[in-house]
Amino acid sequence: MHACIIAVGSELLTPFRVDTNSLAITERLNTIGYAVRLKTIVGDTVDELAQVVSSALVWADLIVLTGGLGPTEDDVTRDAVARVLQVPLEEDRAVVERIRARFARRGMTMPDINRRQAMVPRGATLLDNANGTAPGLWIERGRTAIVLLPGPPREMTSMLDAVIAERLAPKSGGAGLFRRVVKITGRTESDVDQQAQPIYGAWTSRAIPISTTILAMLGQIELHLTVRAESRASADAALDAAVAELRTALGDAVYSVDGRPLEAVVGELLRARRATIAVAESCTGGLLASRLTDVPGSSDYVERRAVCYSNRAKTEWLGVTEALLARHGAVSEQVAEAMAAGIRSRAGVTVGVGVTGIAGPGGGTAEKPVGTVAIAVQTDDDARVRTFQFIGGREMVKFQASQAALNMVRLLLS
Ligand code: AMP
Ligand code: MG
Repeated sequence: MHACIIAVGSELLTPFRVDTNSLAITERLNTIGYAVRLKTIVGDTVDELAQVVSSALVWADLIVLTGGLGPTEDDVTRDAVARVLQVPLEEDRAVVERIRARFARRGMTMPDINRRQAMVPRGATLLDNANGTAPGLWIERGRTAIVLLPGPPREMTSMLDAVIAERLAPKSGGAGLFRRVVKITGRTESDVDQQAQPIYGAWTSRAIPISTTILAMLGQIELHLTVRAESRASADAALDAAVAELRTALGDAVYSVDGRPLEAVVGELLRARRATIAVAESCTGGLLASRLTDVPGSSDYVERRAVCYSNRAKTEWLGVTEALLARHGAVSEQVAEAMAAGIRSRAGVTVGVGVTGIAGPGGGTAEKPVGTVAIAVQTDDDARVRTFQFIGGREMVKFQASQAALNMVRLLLS
């Protein structure tokens, strides 16, 4: 079941407007088992649009066009589709009257140009538009269904939902595309792929094939698993088994298999242990605490945070001695440990965290280049400390440091 999405509108080819409709369309088509194999953006040019439609007609089971159904000269979607299918456009009187009535209800006279919206390629079925004047259109040609939807997202989505419920879902017989996202941190992409590829590479030839894509993002790797299955139950069975294989291979580098972000996973571990946390941050400037408190209900376990940027703040607020700072430097494992211990005892919490590093662009040395970050995590009976070397600019270093700190807390608690 291969689908093609064509977003129509010259404004979508400028730097000022983004085609968001195709994402909403893809999400909905996936739920009924269509895989989007191509999507494209075409300006309001009838020749180019006709070319794109006719090439999609060769292979697609479903072509969804969005935009270009308005009343003006530049709304050419109807014309292009009629040209490709070699059918005439005919005015639908009932549609003209419906649009006229819609204007009349608002005390207005229908401008003559709106008659364009009542032009229907012969053989097409009209789709009601509850939120606007332009009706949508449904046309079948051979094995391909062609759906014309308006551009405004509100009109587009309500019409597409109706088309899916009434026309497309019954064809798919309950099948759908189902996804699982496995999130990993603390490893490089090549490292993860080297271990995971032999596993997921074999999934494509299974009874229920699973396709996998690996996505490297800042501070984390995601493996996206997709199956096309007849029901959610059979998809879940296949995906659960696949996820279990990955977990075995990748071990505790996997932190989430249900979409939860790292801060939520850490939050749940803290809650389950009835533990509380306080963090002392230097180079992350509060980002770590900000992420911890992004999780609803985090007041149950987040006690406080201190942003101690200067040496004086580290001494006054955390009790890091001047001697220690002088001996090891502010960016050192010793200072990170003293920060974690200082905030932990002052806040009276289970877990204390200290983060100190060089976010750049200045301040690096040969021994401690930009991106050097020391992180310490401590509880009553356990303590970890590590020095990381992150890449990128200031914001990237800050984010990676917050990610590594959260991950150290997770590993300490699991
Ligand atoms: P149209 O149906 O081509 O007259 O489009 C009307 C309006 O809908 C445009 O000005 C955009 O604001 C919006 N629109 C059209 N296509 C898209 C799209 N692919 N994604 C998001 N908005 C769109
Ligand atoms: Mg347009």
